[in-house]
Amino acid sequence: MRYTDGYFISLKVKAAFFVTLLIITSTSSLLFLSLNQLEQQFKTTQITKKERLVDDFTNLLEQSFSQLGLIAEQIAITRKNSKNEDQFKLILERLWEDLEYISDISSIHFYNNKQAKPINSYGETNNTSLNELAAKAIKSGHPENTILCHSFCNLVTAIPFMTDNDIQATVITKPLSDVIFALANLNQVSVALTSEQKQEGLNNRSLTEWRLNVLFTTDMNKTYAILNQVSERFSIDSLNKGAIEWHADDGNFLINMLPSTEKYESQHRLIILDNITKYQATIKDHKIQAFIIISISAFFFATLSFLLTRSPISKLQQLIIQYAEIAKHEFTNARKGIPFKRSFFPDELDILFKKTIDLVDELDVLNHDLSEKNHALHHQAMHDELTELGNRNSFINQIKSTISLSKKQHSLWALVFIDLDNFKVINDNFGHDTGDQVLKNIACRLVKCLHKTDVVSRLGGDEFTLILRNMNKPEDIIKVMDKLFNILQEPMTLADKEIKMSCSAGILLSSENITNYHDALKAADIAMYEAKKSGRNCYKLFNDRMYHNSQKSFMIQHEFTSSLENNEFYLHLQPQVIIATGKLIGFEALIRWKHHELGMVYPDHFIPILEESDKIVQLGRWVATNALAQLAELSVHEKGLRMAINISPRQLHDETFIPLLLQLCELHQLKTEQVEIELTEGILVDNIEFAKLWMDEVIGYGFHLAIDDFGTGYSSLSYLSNLPFHTVKLDRSFITPLTDSDSDRDLLEAIIYMVKKMKCEVVAEGIEESSQYNILAKMNCHIAQGYLIQRPVEIKDLHPLLVQYAKTQCWPTIAHLTNDKSNE
Ligand code: C2E
Ligand code: CA
Ligand code: CA
Repeated sequence: MRYTDGYFISLKVKAAFFVTLLIITSTSSLLFLSLNQLEQQFKTTQITKKERLVDDFTNLLEQSFSQLGLIAEQIAITRKNSKNEDQFKLILERLWEDLEYISDISSIHFYNNKQAKPINSYGETNNTSLNELAAKAIKSGHPENTILCHSFCNLVTAIPFMTDNDIQATVITKPLSDVIFALANLNQVSVALTSEQKQEGLNNRSLTEWRLNVLFTTDMNKTYAILNQVSERFSIDSLNKGAIEWHADDGNFLINMLPSTEKYESQHRLIILDNITKYQATIKDHKIQAFIIISISAFFFATLSFLLTRSPISKLQQLIIQYAEIAKHEFTNARKGIPFKRSFFPDELDILFKKTIDLVDELDVLNHDLSEKNHALHHQAMHDELTELGNRNSFINQIKSTISLSKKQHSLWALVFIDLDNFKVINDNFGHDTGDQVLKNIACRLVKCLHKTDVVSRLGGDEFTLILRNMNKPEDIIKVMDKLFNILQEPMTLADKEIKMSCSAGILLSSENITNYHDALKAADIAMYEAKKSGRNCYKLFNDRMYHNSQKSFMIQHEFTSSLENNEFYLHLQPQVIIATGKLIGFEALIRWKHHELGMVYPDHFIPILEESDKIVQLGRWVATNALAQLAELSVHEKGLRMAINISPRQLHDETFIPLLLQLCELHQLKTEQVEIELTEGILVDNIEFAKLWMDEVIGYGFHLAIDDFGTGYSSLSYLSNLPFHTVKLDRSFITPLTDSDSDRDLLEAIIYMVKKMKCEVVAEGIEESSQYNILAKMNCHIAQGYLIQRPVEIKDLHPLLVQYAKTQCWPTIAHLTNDKSNE
């Protein structure tokens, strides 16, 4: 069973391991202590044994000497009790054999004070040392004891005794080996008698390294062999300092040297070999037993702890598995799996299980709350509160999944971007509550109109998006959109008012080029914008041209400022002349943009784009400044000429524009009437009241006002009749088709007549043919402007023309036409 992600060691194993470790270390230390104790005990035993050996040896010597003393006394008594020397000799000869065999006496000697040699001897031992000892005893009158070594080492005692007429001495000898054997037997050791000097007549064996000679051993061959080996390995000093432990093939020995028995003799030392093989075997047995006991008890306790911890640990393991369940929010499973049983004697584990169950209960509740809140939050994050439609987030999710699905299934889908037309007006006029109701109503209509698989979202404000899925063919979109537009346009009654809404929509049809939601939304937005531009209340299908236009628009907006700073803008001037006489009235200033990379960009392209932002205001001020400067420059040729400048709707709201014009007039010493401002009908229609106020102000300063492009828009003279202006400029579309056809001419003639009636000048734009010029002349149109008279040119090209003009006061290119006319 897996209940952990990684490597682990069970507590059972750890407990068994630590118990084993504990048992081994504790028992080993105990064993070490006890062995140490044994060793210590052994050492003390050895020391006492050594002391005992010394004592025993001394005692044995004492005993032997006192035995010899007693024998001497008995002999002395026997001597006294004998009637004569012969009888004594007889008794002694009998007694000698007993002494030799029973008491181990090696020799008896009798001395008197007259002779240095013994007067009588039994046994073999005889040398000068005995004689000296006898003489010493006779002289002192006290017994003398000593050890003498000659052929063998002997205990020698000399006892003085009184006879009838002089002092005599009895000397008795006994082999030292007897005492040493007794010592060895008594203490169960082997003994070697050594001497620093080589002893004449003795069977010496030498220990060269120690400078010792072995005179006698209780076990001649073995002891000497061992000592010989030991002497080669250890120095005599180590033997003097303490015991040497020696492991021989046939056993282990402890070797000691006894201190010399100075009382009798100092040259001879006893070396003791104590066989400790048995003792060491005991120690070894002890160790083996201890090892067995330690192993058994370690095994026993390890097993015991393993078994004791098995059950609680397997419960813990079960609990660990349940934690995984808890992590997966499987609370019911976890609760079932926790090994909890109510117990009368609860322990820590029971408490742990109980607490875990409590925790699971709490987590369960928390989880429930959390998922509810999550759900609510998700709803909030994905829904538009007002319309209950999906919001931008939800839309993004949906379009993303639509795109990725269509990549796999190659399905056809469409994204529709809808923006209500003039929704601001509803808010401004009826209030925001009504605005909200309109949005709700629209949302309802959208949902009703579409399939369940389609997605309707509100991006914000009055912007909605639709994702139409599962379309069969691209043409289907047209049907859907037509149906949608019909439903949306149905009037709605809100707060007793009837409101009619329209909208503009951009459509993106799925294509392989669209790979992300961002591009999709942008494309639909561009198409919607195109719909707005082409008069609203319509839908447009996105195409590549729109994309390029929007790219261009972006580029133009982006490049404008730097181009203005880099003098990439300049002016063309186009003359206006009086048709009847060819006299120059003035010029129209037309803006030109030569971009350093893109080349020539035409005003019809960039003006509408700049008009979307305040950049047009900036450009308008630049045009005014430069156009009036150029007019001043041209005044050297002709005084009182006019400069017409075009302005865009936003410029009406530029409060600095009129003051700028006034300033420029003052600067260049121009009259305000020399400045003509051209306004299109569109400007006026958007906010007629404001436009009228503005026009009144401008006229008040004495500026000229012209209605430009007349005939392209509303073309209603009655509409214009309430407004103040000086000039009407007939759009080129009136002039181009100008033929001799009666209907065209009649309309134009009527317009010219009416304008004149309003006491305004009429300017005909776009005259390219002399026929057009002539017809207009016949119609008594005032002023002409067009390629026929002069293409718009830079000021430098105007200078020579003006020089020429000064001579005739008739614009050179139309001199022949005016002449024709005057000839008629
Ligand atoms: P617009 O005000 O109607 O200007 C007259 C346009 O007709 C000019 O085009 C001019 O070059 C052109 N034109 C003049 N005579 C003829 C002709 O005989 N035949 C033909 N086919 N065209 C002729 P342009 O310069 O391309 O200007 C286009 C429009 O850009 C202008 O129309 C005007 O609405 C706008 N515009 C030009 N300059 C400015 C400016 O400084 N400010 C503003 N706001 N708009 C300007
Ligand atoms: Ca114009
Ligand atoms: Ca025009």
